[in-house]
Amino acid sequence: MDRLPPLSWVEIDKHALVHNIKALRSVIGPHVILAPCVKSNAYGHGLVLASRVFLEAGADWLCVDSVHEAHQLRSAGITAPIYIMGYVSLEQIPYVVSLRCKIMVNNKETIEALAHHAAHDGCIIDIHLKVETGNNRQGIRPEHIVDFARFIQTFPSLRIEGLATHFSNIEDVKRHDFAEIQRQRFDRAYELLQEAGVVIPIRHCANAAATMMYPETHYDMVRPGVACYGIWPSPLFRETYLERHFAPITLMPAFTWKTKLAQIRIVPQGETIGYGRTFTTASDMRIGVVPVGYYDGYDRHLSNKGYVLVHDTVCPVVGRVSMNIIMIDLTAVPQAALEDEVILLGKGKTQSVDIEEIARLQDRIEYELPTRVTTNPIEEVPRILV
Ligand SMILES: *Cc1c(COP(=O)(O)O)cnc(C)c1O
Repeated sequence: MDRLPPLSWVEIDKHALVHNIKALRSVIGPHVILAPCVKSNAYGHGLVLASRVFLEAGADWLCVDSVHEAHQLRSAGITAPIYIMGYVSLEQIPYVVSLRCKIMVNNKETIEALAHHAAHDGCIIDIHLKVETGNNRQGIRPEHIVDFARFIQTFPSLRIEGLATHFSNIEDVKRHDFAEIQRQRFDRAYELLQEAGVVIPIRHCANAAATMMYPETHYDMVRPGVACYGIWPSPLFRETYLERHFAPITLMPAFTWKTKLAQIRIVPQGETIGYGRTFTTASDMRIGVVPVGYYDGYDRHLSNKGYVLVHDTVCPVVGRVSMNIIMIDLTAVPQAALEDEVILLGKGKTQSVDIEEIARLQDRIEYELPTRVTTNPIEEVPRILV
């Protein structure tokens, strides 16, 4: 079947993505490997689309979570190095090898499977070790790291290429003492390996916040995610960063979710709108019907709280968000007509539906918003590069 015209879609601003990658490059300099995180459908921006723009703009590697994402990238003809950071099940291991991915591994079963399939394919797979420094999520404790490295070294089809860790508390605090402790533990693990004669060419630990705020975390490679899409790691981080830097880099959000007005109606004074009758009209009101709901990723917590833009004018959401529909107050936009454009998230001409503000209203973090706009294949909300 041909692709049906979508009822809602996301425009991705190519210029913004390029700007963010160049800004991050300016922070790390020419020699550090720039490996943007494109996991989770490039934070909802479109995996292949964003990856192509990042590589064109000067990114070196791509970081993904799963072998599925790696498969999509290779199928799209992307040949850049791909580093898998998430769990790959034992039955998925042959694909890591055939797709020639780099991978972070924490257990011996995975190492054995990788070694077996790589030997069979006649190739060498690059392994990254992750040191547990305080996140207690993935990784090997420093006291076990040398043994684990030695185990990997017994397989000629594997090469230890990287040593990684991940910060647990940079976004949510103003003081970063714990990040510094993690960095020291990371350095200590590296020393232990060096003393044991294990040579590791690439050390990396910096997410977006660390990349922007702490040059001493850059080492040989950085793995920024959220900032590549023009989104700040948190409002607190934004404030702290802007306070501390005289010449801060700027970030440009790239994501604009749009749809069309489905109906315009006058609701008489004293009637209620939507399920649960949570909104009562104080006067005769011009109401717009917008054809997206929580099924599409428009959060139900935005009931009577969210707002959208029509003709660059803020229109509050009235009543509850339902599965496929929201209602908006069009009083301020008398000229609105059927199928006029509605901006659900992102920039208008002068106004914007700001991701930080909407995240706060729905009690989520900024990271979640673009990833929640559905990619359901039945009624896809396509990501379109503009
Ligand atoms: C997601 C992720 C990142 C990127 O984090 P941001 O806060 O989006 O920059 C870096 N490293 C690992 C291991 C991750 O899982």
